[in-house]
Amino acid sequence: MRIIIEISYLVASILFIFGIKNLSSPKTARKGNFLAALGMFIAIVVTLFDQHVLTYEWIIIGFIIGGLTGALMAYKTPMTGMPQMVGLLNGFGGGASLLVGLSEYYKMKNFPTWTFNVSTDITIVLSLIIGAVTFTGSLIAFGKLQGIVTGRVVKYPGQHPLNLFLLIGLLAAGAFFVIDPNLEWLVLTIGGVALVLGVLLVLPIGGADMPVAISLLNSYSGLAASATGFVLQNNQLIIAGALVGASGIILTLIMCRGMNRSLMNVVMGGWETAGAEGPAASTTSPKGQVKAVDSEELAMLFDAASSVIIVPGYGMAVAQAQHAVRDLTNQLEAKGKKVRFAIHPVAGRMPGHMNVLLAEAQISYDLMLSMEEINDDFPNTDIALIIGANDVVNPAARHDKSSPIYGMPILNVDYAKTVVINKRSMNVGYAGIDNELFFYPNALMYFGDAKDAVAKLVTEIKHL
Ligand code: NDP
Repeated sequence: MRIIIEISYLVASILFIFGIKNLSSPKTARKGNFLAALGMFIAIVVTLFDQHVLTYEWIIIGFIIGGLTGALMAYKTPMTGMPQMVGLLNGFGGGASLLVGLSEYYKMKNFPTWTFNVSTDITIVLSLIIGAVTFTGSLIAFGKLQGIVTGRVVKYPGQHPLNLFLLIGLLAAGAFFVIDPNLEWLVLTIGGVALVLGVLLVLPIGGADMPVAISLLNSYSGLAASATGFVLQNNQLIIAGALVGASGIILTLIMCRGMNRSLMNVVMGGWETAGAEGPAASTTSPKGQVKAVDSEELAMLFDAASSVIIVPGYGMAVAQAQHAVRDLTNQLEAKGKKVRFAIHPVAGRMPGHMNVLLAEAQISYDLMLSMEEINDDFPNTDIALIIGANDVVNPAARHDKSSPIYGMPILNVDYAKTVVINKRSMNVGYAGIDNELFFYPNALMYFGDAKDAVAKLVTEIKHL
């Protein structure tokens, strides 16, 4: 029986690896998701046959409640709410590790035949600390993205020394626990302090750094699962946790590069963030007159253009304008224009957000180019059409050292012959800062809800 269980775990692990590999491209992402889900299904079924399971009733109750809640969340959560959901799920993973760490501790303490040993003690401590930090850290990240907790950078004197002190204290307490595992109050203190540390680590992270924080917490949740795997001596959990931990940290590093933030900066909670005192306060607001156009004028402009780059952003997701954007693409292509999409790595509210929406509207992957692939093409492009994007096209990132997004690579839309910006107002984007692009001589504002505005433009172009 044991050998069948271990082989099945191996098969599940291989499915996870192929799943992650396939997730690295939008073209194969669905297949990757399916493979990983199949691997998880095998892992769950096999675990239920494991000898450690004594009774099934609580497992069935948990399965029904958890399964229904998960399905309902996945069904109800809009595309724009996906990062919050990922954040929350990371938190549940961390919470589970915390609970397993505690229950294993009490199991050992209360059963006279069980004995503590150093390696189990270490893994219990790791499971408690990483699980608790991930749990509360993820809840705060969820709250920030959901608007329940302030999305701004939260700073207070002595913040970093306090975090460091708590971390060192936790490690020291962990070492004491390994020496004397009977100190129950120490275990509870470790759990409690780690819960507080999770809050303190994520609370300072604001605005534009949030996606990196979510990805890092995802990595933490993997490490917590791996530590739990050692506690339970379950190879599958160790492998799956290590995969999540490693892929999470790789994604974190890629995103750090995309936003020009150092990993240390994120780990320490906005250590060097330029706009520490609050994004809006740190930049001088651009002034001047903006030039607004209507759909008719714009249609004529497009009629004269031969190349167009569309830059989608969060506003396109909110307006669900992807189908109208597809109609626009078809219409322009039918008139012989070259149309491509420029996708910024952190456009929208989750990695790959724009690709998913555009693919849903049947826009070919071949038209979607990454920032590195397309950024040099803007100077040779007639129109850069921005649909609901703001931060990812803000030129302040290149030169304004006081800006919270200073150093973040942006799409060079301002180098195009004409830039058309569609949004509803002059409002700021996620980072809370004004955008000087709107005042540039080659910029035109096309105000309106993205879905309606693009649909109107399509109608006008058709009538030309
Ligand atoms: P932004 O959040 O910078 O700007 C979006 C703009 O869309 C707003 O200025 C808003 O202006 C406009 N908008 C909102 N609703 C509509 C609508 N219905 N129709 C038309 N426009 C609309 O988006 P970006 O995509 O440029 O940048 C993403 C930001 O989110 C970055 O700061 C990034 O760091 C952050 N982030 C990214 C995550 C990721 O993983 N991708 C996760 C979490 C945060 P107005 O109100 O005037 O219409």
